[in-house]
Amino acid sequence: MDFQPLVETFGKMEETSSRLALTDHLVALLKETPADLIDKVTYLIQGKLYPDYEGIEMGLAERMALRAIASSSSRSMSEVEAIYRKKGDIGDAAREAMESKGQSTLFSEQMTVERVYCTFDKIAKTTGPGSQETKLRLVASLLNDSTPDEGRYIMKFVMGALRLGIADYTVLDALAIAFTGDKANRKVLENAYNVSSDLGTVAKLLATKGLAAVKAVQITLFKPIRPMLAERVSTAEEAMERMDSRAAIEYKLDGERVQIHKGRDRVELFSRRLEKITDHYPDVSKAAMSLACKEAIMEGEVVAVNLQTGEYLPFQQLMHRRRKHGIEEAMENYPVVINLFDILYLDGKSRTELPYEERRKLLEKTVKGAKDNGIMLKIVPQVVATEPAEIDRFMASAIENGCEGVMVKMPSSTYRAGAREYLWVKLKREYRTELADTLDLVIVGALHGRGRRVGKYGALLLAAYDPKEDIFRSVTKVGTGFTDIHLDQFYRELEKHVIHQKHARVDTGMSMEVWFEPVIVIEVIASEITLSPSHMAAMDAIKEGYGLALRFPKFTGKIRDDKEPEGATTTDEIVTMYRRQLKIHSEAAKSKEQEKKKKESEEGEE
Ligand code: AMP
Repeated sequence: MDFQPLVETFGKMEETSSRLALTDHLVALLKETPADLIDKVTYLIQGKLYPDYEGIEMGLAERMALRAIASSSSRSMSEVEAIYRKKGDIGDAAREAMESKGQSTLFSEQMTVERVYCTFDKIAKTTGPGSQETKLRLVASLLNDSTPDEGRYIMKFVMGALRLGIADYTVLDALAIAFTGDKANRKVLENAYNVSSDLGTVAKLLATKGLAAVKAVQITLFKPIRPMLAERVSTAEEAMERMDSRAAIEYKLDGERVQIHKGRDRVELFSRRLEKITDHYPDVSKAAMSLACKEAIMEGEVVAVNLQTGEYLPFQQLMHRRRKHGIEEAMENYPVVINLFDILYLDGKSRTELPYEERRKLLEKTVKGAKDNGIMLKIVPQVVATEPAEIDRFMASAIENGCEGVMVKMPSSTYRAGAREYLWVKLKREYRTELADTLDLVIVGALHGRGRRVGKYGALLLAAYDPKEDIFRSVTKVGTGFTDIHLDQFYRELEKHVIHQKHARVDTGMSMEVWFEPVIVIEVIASEITLSPSHMAAMDAIKEGYGLALRFPKFTGKIRDDKEPEGATTTDEIVTMYRRQLKIHSEAAKSKEQEKKKKESEEGEE
């Protein structure tokens, strides 16, 4: 297949911000793609070579990329650097360098998707001493035979700067339309995606074997399953109402969610975002190897602990485990335990269809026989309750033990991969602000810093997630709660995600000086939620022409890099929080009113 149709589609996609139009372009491209290439094209349009969990990256240094452009456009390095500085984007720089040189492609080999993918793959897989030079040669070989437009996308891809704004759900829609003619079939594709986390393989299966084969996709060891998520509630009564007569209540630990895949001779760990994090926790992997089974997939929360007191430590402590070197030392200084809460697969069989209470029994049995003796492998504390008062009591004990709150789960529920429903609900502790809860929001824009903050960002525009439209809608601008270290760190991290205009998946009425791809999630607290004409979160939900905004927001110091942007607080959750706040206010006002009346009548009697 020629590379040209991909380049043309990418171009059209860059120009649109409408999800419908994006889907149409994708459908056209998928229809044009031969079935045996569908997986590769699916990965390429998402800027990947493999599913995320493989953790495969190009690993080409920026300087080498610039050298590749210089060599294939017969320019000096300083000329290319000047163009790059002017353009600010590696792809645009490549195109300009190649264009003005009037590069001829007359005698060059034809650029095909197969060749591009295969070369990218070689680049990614080249490691060890001298690998940067080899990678450079491979990139240059592609550029030598490309048109400037092709070169632009090749460089964007190689440097991880291809930003077409396509969410997984858009690809699922497009696949359903292209191969079955019916968008409703997306549900089937979504299920297969939820248990395999591999869009490329799902796409290829659909294109080559049809919908029935996709329906039959099963959980597989070492392929992460998209995690089941919880809705939030604000009272024990509300939590109980969501359950049938009984509720399984568990500690909600403040650590990192880990999905353990234990095989006969190896263990892999995946994060909530499905990245492979085996290297962060060699101690957890070793303990998991001792489980009393041949193969299993389990979920749990890794928490840092003080081994002396057994006390749980804050989530930030786990950051020390995210390093390439010195992990032995980090294991010693920052010990962890894992609190298991679910089992999804055991010895060749998926267990997701079992009711939760059965899975818990199976989990207990499997962990009991482990040689670890409960040192590292623990099972999350749980009680089964029938009354809200029991939830409150368990909550108090959870908080006393350093937890964030409790999780309340439906004992009869199956494991619903990738779903956020009321089968699991979370009840968090009250904070000192008027708003009972923290919010996890996505950074989408910024204003430059002034005064002491010159050269950094002064305020960040934050957005909540609207899952119905798959869009991030702004909800507040935050400028407090940052230390100098945070400010530096944010500047460095966000710089990688700067884009020249508002992202296609961002909706806001605020004008900003800098825009970002919606990637980084941070936690904030706020004093209250108000109606706002310029923020778009929950627009029209409460009042026509108004969205909802946070007042006096403050960064809590927590960067939620365990959450993907789609895992941020949703606009619906903000509506619920707003209504709850109104209710609290009106109840407070009512009791004040009653008191006043009582006082007046007493005075009258006197
Ligand atoms: P949140 O991140 O606020 O949406 O809360 C959901 C997260 O709580 C999960 O993804 C887990 O990382 C974590 N968690 C802590 N304890 C439990 C538990 N007992 N069951 C399920 N999730 C838990």
